[in-house]
Amino acid sequence: MDAVSRLWRGCAAVWSPARMWLSLAMGARFSTSLARLGSPMTRDPDGRGVHWVFLGCPGVGKGTYASRLSQLLGVPHISTGDLVREELASSGPLAQQLAGIVNHGQLVSDEIIMSLLIKRLEHGATKAESGSILDGFPRTIRQAEILEGVTEIDLVINLKLREDALLAKCLGRRICSHCGGNYNVASVNIKGENGRPDFIMAPLLPPADCASKLVTRVDDTEEVVKERLRIYNEMSKPVEEFYRARGKLLEFDLPGGIPESWPKLLQALNLVDHDDKQSASA
Ligand code: ADP
Repeated sequence: MDAVSRLWRGCAAVWSPARMWLSLAMGARFSTSLARLGSPMTRDPDGRGVHWVFLGCPGVGKGTYASRLSQLLGVPHISTGDLVREELASSGPLAQQLAGIVNHGQLVSDEIIMSLLIKRLEHGATKAESGSILDGFPRTIRQAEILEGVTEIDLVINLKLREDALLAKCLGRRICSHCGGNYNVASVNIKGENGRPDFIMAPLLPPADCASKLVTRVDDTEEVVKERLRIYNEMSKPVEEFYRARGKLLEFDLPGGIPESWPKLLQALNLVDHDDKQSASA
């Protein structure tokens, strides 16, 4: 057993709350086939929430859709990218080391990611959180194997967007430094070729209050995004196959921006959003 697996499985005194959370909150036995997801099942009979994972290239919109589903299903959205950024902003002992890795588009070590995730799970355990939608984890086969060793994931949603749109979406990403809202100033309009239809994604512009407070992620420069895409193909693409082989992967090609994609994603998941006011205006 390697060091990270030992870290995850061992040290009962230190990790037991997180491990207990994992075995309770991530242990629900939902069907992984969409046919069996027939009704919008968001809790199992014991009241445990769903245990889903979002995969997809940088810029595809994992955070956007994971966050919407988390609100709809009442389970926490856990983004390892957000955990890394929180640590970076904290000026804690790891911050300097992380900056050198993240700002160059590289992956953080499994050891650091697992320790950030365990800290987040321990915090969730104190609030009796149940279920989760993981975003940005697992990102390597090793992470997927470690996760598989402690829990059963019900469903893995693989979001896909044509490659020529991904770079534009990353470069257009903006965050409100005041409220944390996510926006995108990119207007994607790619002419259809060889029988493919035109591909249009309208910008997601901020409200007036946020417009003057927008910031760009330091790793959203063209050079770093290209490196992140390369690393995704090398390190994270195999994770898709890992879950495909286990019959857990739902492939979802985004047909456009949020207004086109959100209703289709809900349909693919057999879910209904009775409170969907945002799509129309997004
Ligand atoms: P992206 O837009 O590339 O999907 P994220 O916001 O998910 O970016 O992650 C930002 C950065 O945080 C990554 O480029 C990587 O350095 C680090 N990171 C996030 N999740 C992981 C993970 N599971 N393993 C290793 N590094 C990670």
